[in-house]
Amino acid sequence: MSISINAAFDSGNIRVVACQGDVIDLEIVADHLSDFYQWFHFRVAGARGRTLTFRIINAGGAAYAFGWPGYRARMSTDRHAWRQVDTGYADGVLTFTATIDSELAWFAYFAPYTLERHDDLVARIAAKPGVAHRELGQSLDGRAIDYLTLGSGPRQVWAYARQHPGESMCEWFMEGLLERLTDPGDAIPADLLARFTFHCVPNMNPDGSYRGHLRTNAAGVNLNREWHAPTAERSPEVLCVRNRMDETGVDIAIDVHGDEAIPANFIAGYEGIPNWTDEHGARFTAFGAAWAAATPDFQTKLGYPVAAAGRANLAMSTNQVANRFGALAMTLEMPFKDHDDNADPEFGWSPERSKRLAHGWLEVLAAFER
Ligand code: ZN
Repeated sequence: MSISINAAFDSGNIRVVACQGDVIDLEIVADHLSDFYQWFHFRVAGARGRTLTFRIINAGGAAYAFGWPGYRARMSTDRHAWRQVDTGYADGVLTFTATIDSELAWFAYFAPYTLERHDDLVARIAAKPGVAHRELGQSLDGRAIDYLTLGSGPRQVWAYARQHPGESMCEWFMEGLLERLTDPGDAIPADLLARFTFHCVPNMNPDGSYRGHLRTNAAGVNLNREWHAPTAERSPEVLCVRNRMDETGVDIAIDVHGDEAIPANFIAGYEGIPNWTDEHGARFTAFGAAWAAATPDFQTKLGYPVAAAGRANLAMSTNQVANRFGALAMTLEMPFKDHDDNADPEFGWSPERSKRLAHGWLEVLAAFER
């Protein structure tokens, strides 16, 4: 029986180049109308009992090829548990090997979060007491931008994720956030919902998510470079969210992302915005320190270099929101690899840990804003 490889499904991405014995050469398909690619997700059938070597031969041209060293691909036989497999990177080729003892196996860059799962999440959370749902707008392909509000407090918290659709850990984080906020037996959300109103967009980029994109929407636009001037033609996903923010105001914001290279959780801030003050910046620093003190799954040593005074890119959401509203704004980056300070050799960074990180973020928020 011959092996078949398929990615024609929700969030799938791969192209088969050659299949020679147990070695399969593959390419990741670039985002539509864009050069970005790094997300892959495909299924293998007909391989039970074989040890296969997959070679992604265009890995060297990926958006963040410098992130491949130290990375390990994920494999699942049930689409629930995603384990790391032996992976190496050399000469522009990402190679991973797996022995398949099941009828079917799936491989992905990170545990996927399909659009179907997004729909299930929205349905489940919207049905909980005290939750309001609104379709804020539509994507270029006509998909809903789902927006959930919780709580009645005077301070406005915005949590939004997956501007970059291949960063699937982001929506696992949002699932954790929304589940904790709607847990009736938990004292933390009861306290938070009295002090804050939460505005949540669990998926900013449904088109890219479904299409198996890494970084862009259906028009090849990087949504996190649109926040200074979003348009209905290029970036309706950002336009509808920013317009709603203008109505509600923003006191605290978290924009949830994944990073291809750095093996740690960290937040990036808004250094260099025109409205910068040292007091504003000190709140960001203090929040990061409080989070690092609260859990071994967060740290502040590794992260991005900061912009010089006046040099912030206001096309990026965290800079725009910090500057526009004076918000304590943060870009959370979770790893595709692992959080090395607290590593898990079997799963690496994972859906469960992304969800727990969100639970912890709410605890830090509850204590921080007293
Ligand atoms: Zn990102």
